[in-house]
Formats: sequence, structure tokens, C-alpha cells
Amino acid sequence: MQKKYVYSFREGKKEMKELLGGKGANLAEMTSLGITVPPGFTVTTQVCDTYYKSNRKYPGEVINQIDKKLAELEKEIGKKFGDKKDPLLVSVRSGAAVSMPGMMDTVLNLGLNDETVEGLAKKTSNERFAWDSYRRFIQMFGDVVMEVDHDKFEEQLEEIKKEKGVEADTELDVNDLKKVVNRYKKAIKESAGKLFPDNPREQLQMAIDAVFSSWNNERAIIYRRLNDIKGLLGTAVNVQAMVFGNMGKTSGTGVCFTRNPATGENKFYGEILMNAQGEDVVSGMRTPKAIDELKSAMPEVYNQLVKTCKRLEMHYRDMQDSEFTIQEGKLYLLQTRNGKRTPAASVKIAVDMVKEKLINEKTALMRVNPYQLEQLLHKQIDPLAKKEAEFLTKGLPASPGVAVGEAVFSAQKAHDWAGKGKKVILVRRETTPEDIEGMDAAQGILTSRGGMTSHAAVVGRGMGKCCVVGASEVSINPKKEYFTVKGVEIKEGDIITLDGSTGEVFKGQLRVIDPQLSSDFTKLMKWADKFKKLGVMTNADTPHDAKVARNFGAEGIGLCRTEHMFFHEDRIKAVREMILAYDLESRKKALQKLLPFQKEDFKGIFEAMEGLPVTIRLLDPPLHEFLPYNEKDILDLSKEMDVSLEKIYAKLEELKECNPMLGHRGCRLVVTFPEIAEMQTEAIISAACELVKKGKKVMPEIMIPLVGFKEELDFNVKIVKRVAKEIISRYNVKLDYKIGTMIEVPRGAITADEIAKTAEFFSFGTNDLTQMMLGFSRDDAAKFIGSYLEKGIFEKDPFQVLDQTGVGQLMKIAVEKGKKTRKDLKLGICGEHGGDPSSIKFCHKLGLNYVSCSPFRVPIARLAAAQAALEEKGIS
Ligand code: PEP
Ligand code: MG
Repeated sequence: MQKKYVYSFREGKKEMKELLGGKGANLAEMTSLGITVPPGFTVTTQVCDTYYKSNRKYPGEVINQIDKKLAELEKEIGKKFGDKKDPLLVSVRSGAAVSMPGMMDTVLNLGLNDETVEGLAKKTSNERFAWDSYRRFIQMFGDVVMEVDHDKFEEQLEEIKKEKGVEADTELDVNDLKKVVNRYKKAIKESAGKLFPDNPREQLQMAIDAVFSSWNNERAIIYRRLNDIKGLLGTAVNVQAMVFGNMGKTSGTGVCFTRNPATGENKFYGEILMNAQGEDVVSGMRTPKAIDELKSAMPEVYNQLVKTCKRLEMHYRDMQDSEFTIQEGKLYLLQTRNGKRTPAASVKIAVDMVKEKLINEKTALMRVNPYQLEQLLHKQIDPLAKKEAEFLTKGLPASPGVAVGEAVFSAQKAHDWAGKGKKVILVRRETTPEDIEGMDAAQGILTSRGGMTSHAAVVGRGMGKCCVVGASEVSINPKKEYFTVKGVEIKEGDIITLDGSTGEVFKGQLRVIDPQLSSDFTKLMKWADKFKKLGVMTNADTPHDAKVARNFGAEGIGLCRTEHMFFHEDRIKAVREMILAYDLESRKKALQKLLPFQKEDFKGIFEAMEGLPVTIRLLDPPLHEFLPYNEKDILDLSKEMDVSLEKIYAKLEELKECNPMLGHRGCRLVVTFPEIAEMQTEAIISAACELVKKGKKVMPEIMIPLVGFKEELDFNVKIVKRVAKEIISRYNVKLDYKIGTMIEVPRGAITADEIAKTAEFFSFGTNDLTQMMLGFSRDDAAKFIGSYLEKGIFEKDPFQVLDQTGVGQLMKIAVEKGKKTRKDLKLGICGEHGGDPSSIKFCHKLGLNYVSCSPFRVPIARLAAAQAALEEKGIS
């Protein structure tokens, strides 16, 4: 049988999106529902695919089928294409399976030429209308099909208006419009080097070719990449008989939504322009009015429109965004689709529709995009304020939210100024663990270097603090305390605003809107918990963060980075004493000073988590991170600790590493300094025992970082077990605890069967696992990952979205091998990917028990986990 390339609207249905595109499938569906739709046909996405595969040509059969459908359309409408007395005119529009701006959009009034325009004038008894339609058609066709710059037409129009001494297009009469047509044609010939085609069939073919070509224009390709649109055949082309909204007072055109797309309120919402064609609105020539104008002008048509759209909403069981035209009092629907909406509207509409019994809870969960949810949890810049603001630059959006404050260039200043009640933004080339207090005190953090897993990014996210990193256009002079960007200088104390959701940086103070978590949001989250299989834990290092995460629904702590506790003013001295100690005795003495602080920290966290599992990781970073690195701070340290400058410099030299990320860190520190693990174990276990004594429930899990060899793990575990046993018997209580490891060194993953002999749980540290498996330094990769993304080598930053085919496969091996040794091995992830929806879905498929992410990502993870389970099981 012959292949079918062209479908009339009577032949399709909504399920045929892949083949007919969204627009085509919905036009067909509306036609079959008996809704008044101007008739037409769709050339399929399959033709687009073939067009590219055969070097921008299609089989002759396609042309024949178009001719046939055109003849059917002529018969149905009772008009002929190119007829000099009463011509058929059509619109040509693109439409892929997924709505996709960037492609050629619309050509209206196709079929007009010097002869048919006269026919249209006579038939409508409106010469001005006919010539106005003609000049619009040439302009649109010239612009989108023949690629003549839009401005060339505007120039001609302006010139003619000037010659006539008028301002508005509407003041031009028929003769003027005829002049416009001639000048437009000349402009096309000059710019395109070709004549404007008079033959309507040739016009149609050129428009269809242009739609297919636009599938692979740069804008469309970028849009697909940014929105992760893959696997489509191409775009379809819809050819539809024209109806006119510009035929007088009882005509008009508009768009409407069955619910408010900004708030989600269940109220019909729309805009209309009377006596106009769609592109008047698009070009901004005229401003549309609220739909109420139609209600008062033509109440019957209005009621019919509301009824039709509500019917469509019931039919699609989703909020509809429809386009319509009224031609001399008769209503036509030109398009309908599920409407785009804000995150807040998305949650409200999903929950309302469950209440209205339009959809079930599972469908509601699938309707909300977890990536969008993040915006609901944080402050936002008022979009109106953004438009007027002075934009400085854009970095990576490392941690969402908004920060407004005075720029400061050192953590110390951030701390001091904030102590005086000022709001500050810490601006640094990059941050180090030493900056933690300043980061904590600041409203937000801006760095000129570093990527999505840099220190600033990870800590900022953990704190729920707005953070923009890797803003490479920002040139910082920390000594003179200013930065410059594109010639603008921002000095200490100047106010800037950061948008952590987009990475934008603005000069001055922008208006901010607070987040509002609705009861609908809470309801949706409860439904998510009903269906998800993965546990959702959090990465938190303080009782405060732990509480925030609990309120967002965290089921425990999956990663407590103990080093973050070392930096507070009252502890850093003891940490430095420990590092500078010349023998074991004095090192132990310094560690004993730290012990009470750590113990209190752990007690606070255990209490905040009320008996839920708390995974505490032993010290991870290299020790030099705890020492100062600039001259002034080194001098201060020498005075404060009464240690000679020489000795400090010697220690710094001794600790220096070429590749600190691959150096003396993680479990390797304990191999050299077992006393660190001894102190940390004592702090964890005694904090737990004290709470157990008070009748409280605690579930400590001690995690050893950076393990590549079973022997390394055994060495660490032996110390932990010995100390824990001593402490538990000292307190004389019953305490269960677990010991496990991070899987973040590729060798650890490959030898997971060995490692699982000792480890009771695995937590995938995918930040380091990505770094080591790709051989990309997580602190330096941001400098070149941008080029990888631009050039299409990477689709996503692998430090944000898990590299499933590489790192993911290694995880799979580790899961399989680990489970072989220990059936009940508990498996989780605590790298940044634990808060990324697509990575979470992958973790579900791998069969992990939980994901762990920063507190503000907990709701996102709950929703993504529910969707993963529903995608697997189906939603009916
Ligand atoms: C990891 O490597 O994924 C991890 C969670 O540890 P960190 O980011 O602290 O190195
Ligand atoms: Mg790590």
C-alpha cells in the first residue's frame, strides 16, 4: 500500500501527535468533536524526516498527495486556489509533537497575487481589506520564507507613511497599499535576488519547504537542546483555510485559557483584538484587550467560546490554551493545546483537578515539573523589576533564591558587617572552607570561578543560600576591594542583586517576592510520598539545616560533612593546633579541645532528626584547607598561637599538594592520623549515648569517605568499632549503629563485592566519582564545560546531571557486586545528583534505597521519586 504522507483534519486524532505534530493532531481532534475549525490538512513529521534524509528533497508522492488534499479542500470550501474571482486562501503553520518556539511559525493569506487580490476585493466588497491582506502576506512570506530582513519592509512602510504625512497604518488608503505592495516586491527582489512568486501553488510549496528547513535552524536546535527535546522525527506542516478576523466590527481574533496560567485560578482568562489578524498582536502593533470586551460586544459568541473551551478542557482533562478567530460573528477555533503555566499555577491546577475529579492523584503528580518546583521554594525577583534593572553579567545558577546586599570581598568583612546588621554579598574568586562563617553571614555568594560542585556551590546549596558561581566576566581585585564587569565598577559597599535561579547579577537593589507554600503544595507532596519507593534524605551539617530539611519532608540525614563544623570561630583554633602539632601527644591534646564541640553539634543534629537515621561522614578535606593562606592571616595565626612564622610556613610547605582533590584526604587522613577518627567516633557515639540515656531514639551511621581499597576501609572501621565499644560500655546503654562507606573512587566501585564485606551501607559520592571517572577536576572543569555544552559534546554538565552511560554504569556494577556480597546492603547517593530529577529517576531504576540532597531540594526529590515509581508502574 502507498505510504500516507498527508492527512486531512478529518482523518487524524489527538493520539497521533508524533506523526501530525501537536497542532495537527489537536486540529483533527477538534474537527472530530464537531467543533468549528476551518478545514485543512497536515503534511506529516515523517515527510520532514525524509526531507532531511534525502538531502532536502521528498518523494514525488508527497507532492501528489498535497495536490490531492488541496483539491479536496477546494471542494469542501467551494473556492479554488488561484481563482481570480473568489480565491481560496490558506495559512501555513509549523507544529512538532512538542510545542517548540524557534521554528517558522505562521504565514497567513497565502494564495494572494496581483490577480487574486482583485477577486478577494470584489467578493468581500472591501478593496482596502484585500490589499491590506495582500501586503501583509508579502511581508510575512518575504520575511519567513524568503528570509528578507523584517526591517526592509518596515522601512518601506514608514517611507510611504511619511510621504503621505500619516502615522498609523490604518490611515493608508487602497492606493497607498498598492504602492506598499510594489515596494515590498522590489525589496524582496533586491534582498533575495529572486522575484516574489505569483503562482499560489509555488507559494505553498515554498512555505512548506521553509517550515521543514526551520526545523534545523539555529534557534530551534538551541531550544531543543535547552529543553531536552530528543527523538522527534521533525515538524509537521498544517495548511488550513483562512478565516478573517479583520473583516469589520463583528470580527476579531484572540487567545484564551480555561484557567489563569499565572495563578491557576479556575477562571476563564483571555485576550482579544476586534477587527484584527493574529499577527497584529504578535508584532506588537496593537495591544489586545481583556476577553471581557467580547463579553460585552458579542455575548453570545463569548458564551459559545467559553463553552467550547471548557468542553475541550473536559475532553483533554487539562487546562487549555486556545486560539480563535471570529469572522463576521462566526466563531472558529484555530488551535488548542495544554497551556503553559507558572510553577504555582501548575501545582494549583493539578490539585484542583483532582478535587474536581477530572484526574487522579497519580496524574496530578505527573503534571508538575520537579525542575520548576524549585522556584516555589525560594524568593524571586519581581519580573517587572528585572526588566528595568541594570544587568551586569550571568554566571552559573549554583543555588537558587535571591540575594540583595552590599558587596564585600572577604569572609571576615562579611561576618563583621553582618554582625552590625548589614546585608552583604560575599564576592570572591572562589571560596574555601575557611570562608564558611562569612558565607553563612552573607545574604548570597558570587564567585568568578568554579563550577556547580565547587565549594561555594555545594555549601551555598546546603545552606539554602543564593549563590552564583563561575561568573567569568567578573574581574575581582580583593586587595583594593572592588570588581569590574563590562567596564562597570562595583566597590565595597555598593549594592548588587543576585538571582541564584538564573545566575544573573544586577547592579542595585531589585524588588523581591517571598515564596508562598500553599496548602495545595503540601497536599501534592503527601501524594508523592504515597507512591514513591526511594527514601529522601538530606545533606545537612547543622541542627538548623536539619530542621529545615525535616520541614520539607526529609526522612533522615544522608550526609553530614563534619568538616563544616571545624570552621566556626570557636573551633578553628583547636583544629589549627592539631594540624601544627609536632607530636602525637600535642595533636591528641588539640583534638580533645575539639571533642566537646563536635559532641554538642552531633547531639543537636540527632535531636533535630528525632530518631531518623543520621549519616555522619568522618573528616574528608585535605588539612591545608584549614590553614590560612594570605600573609596577614598567617601573621595573625603566628601571634595568636605563639608559633613561629617559620614553623607555619614549613607546615604549609609540607601540606602543599599538586592535586589536593586526589591527595591526602578522606580515609587516607585516618591512615596517617588515626587519632582524628578516634576523636570523631567518640564525639558521635557519646552524643548518641547521652541521648539514649535520656530515653531518646537515635540512629547513627558512620560513613568513611574516599575508600578505594577494602584494606583502607578495614583500617578505619577497626578504629571506629574499638572506640565505639569503649564509649558504649562507659555509658552502659544499648546503642545500634551502622558503619558504611562512600563509593566515590572508581576502584571502590569496581571492587564493591570486597568492600561490602565490611561496609553495611554504600552512599554514592557522585561528585568525586564523576571527577575521578571523567578525569575532570570538579574545581576547574567549569572553565571548559561551557565550551563542551556549546559545541554539543555534552548535553548537560555531568556535575549537575548524572552521566548515566559512564558514571551510572559504574554505579550499576557497584550495586550488583555489593548486593552479591551483602543482600541487605543499604544503598544511597549523596553527591549533588541526589537532588536532580533525571538523576533521581536513574537511581530509582538502579534500585537504590534513598537519595540525599540539600534541604531545599527535598520536595523536588520527593516529587521526582514519585514520578519515577509511577513511570515504571503506569498511572491508571
Ligand atoms: C561526593 O563526592 O559526591 C560527596 C558527596 O562528597 P564531597 O562533595 O564532600 O566530596
Ligand atoms: Mg566526595
